[in-house]
Amino acid sequence: MTTSATAFVGLGANLGDARRTLAGAARALAALPGTALRGRSSLYRSAPIGSSGPDYLNAVVELQTLLAPRDLLAALQRIEQDHGRTRPYRNAPRTLDLDLLLHGDTVQDDPVLTLPHPRMRERAFVLLPLAEIAPARVEPGWLDRVRGQAVSRLACGW
Ligand code: AMP
Repeated sequence: MTTSATAFVGLGANLGDARRTLAGAARALAALPGTALRGRSSLYRSAPIGSSGPDYLNAVVELQTLLAPRDLLAALQRIEQDHGRTRPYRNAPRTLDLDLLLHGDTVQDDPVLTLPHPRMRERAFVLLPLAEIAPARVEPGWLDRVRGQAVSRLACGW
């Protein structure tokens, strides 16, 4: 454990009952030790990038957590496994994908964890929900660069 940090987690699912999976994942995140769920974006639908299968449902949640970045990443991977994620090949369709986008102002790049998440600025399905709940963490130029990607905000709730 460390001092409390605001962290943002990207959620994605494109197999099975994706909405139910995301709701279960948010509950699991809120139940992590020393962790509170502070906010959640709307749900978004996106076409798979570098992957196959049905459209994804995506969202971003904000956590307040005492978990250090590596411990939070390990917890995300456990939650993925609890939702039956397998990794038969790179970018395979997945029941649940959890990415640690930001952990406070931590900047690091090692073989296990890169922060901020290395691909978050290229992905509209991350930037749009993140901008919805934490506009200060998204620079305007980033959104311009992902404008062409097919992502839509869903009117329905979680
Ligand atoms: P993926 O298959 O896209 O979920 O990628 C998981 C791999 O990316 C794992 O080996 C992680 O250790 C690594 N990784 C590096 N940085 C991050 C991050 N910020 N969030 C999630 N996974 C990360």
